[in-house]
Amino acid sequence: MPEPTPTTSPRGSVRRPALSPSRAGDFRQCPLMFRLRLIDKIPEPPSPAATLGTLVHSVLEDLYDLPAAERTLDTAAAMVAPQWTAMLAKQPDLAGLHDDDAALQTWLNDGIGRLDTYFRMENPQRLEPQAREEFVEFQLEDGPLLRGIIDRVDVAPDGSIRLIDYKTGKKPLPQYSTKVQFQMRFYALLVERLRGRRPALLQLLFLRDGGTIELRPEAGDLEKVEFEIRELWSDITAAATAGQFRPRKSKLCGWCHFQALCPEFGGVTPPLDPVAVERSLGISIASLA
Ligand code: SF4
Repeated sequence: MPEPTPTTSPRGSVRRPALSPSRAGDFRQCPLMFRLRLIDKIPEPPSPAATLGTLVHSVLEDLYDLPAAERTLDTAAAMVAPQWTAMLAKQPDLAGLHDDDAALQTWLNDGIGRLDTYFRMENPQRLEPQAREEFVEFQLEDGPLLRGIIDRVDVAPDGSIRLIDYKTGKKPLPQYSTKVQFQMRFYALLVERLRGRRPALLQLLFLRDGGTIELRPEAGDLEKVEFEIRELWSDITAAATAGQFRPRKSKLCGWCHFQALCPEFGGVTPPLDPVAVERSLGISIASLA
């Protein structure tokens, strides 16, 4: 029986409100952070670490456009500087990330270092991904629209599906890996619903230290993640309806750019805008207006 065609849509098009694994993770970490990021869309300064992630992902995506024999570390390393130039052209404020040319070169070398680690983990000359940076969307019945971008999808001759996600950081300790595991199970659920086949293997590749996390989802795992998503969506809807996205203080607050708007740090949060809630979540709370 032919497989259903995955729902895809070009990047940059106008999209309906949807829940991605990143934003779901934000809500689990701190509902106020989720609100300020997704609903209020408060700008956050680019960070060297996140931008390095974007750079390395771009190189790895483009690497697979080349004939297999040309997919070498030297080729990938030579793609780093031009890719950075292209990113700067699209987003000139990234130029402020580095104090001087020496700092920029060190950062670019870090990117090459991540690629070096990648080539120790996989041989791209022996792989032919079915998809890279695959945009996937699925409407959960009586629930939210789910959306994600999967770094790479490999399909074996027997039809087995492997999902790959690159991380430019190092492998987290088991107690801190919940978020990335949830992300991969979220993608696996989407792929199963869109292709009618459960991915056999989910792999996270950590390019700073060469660590990996592998998950082999069973049917029960994906039922569980669907249940978690539905519960989360119910909590998000309740928070939106009540107009209360509460701060949840944790060790991760040190990385949060919203401290000036957070009561936990003496800040004042702006009033919630019902129009922004509807635009970003598709939840109508007009009665609060
Ligand atoms: S500082 Fe902490 S509690 Fe406040 S919004 Fe950020 S993550 Fe949430």
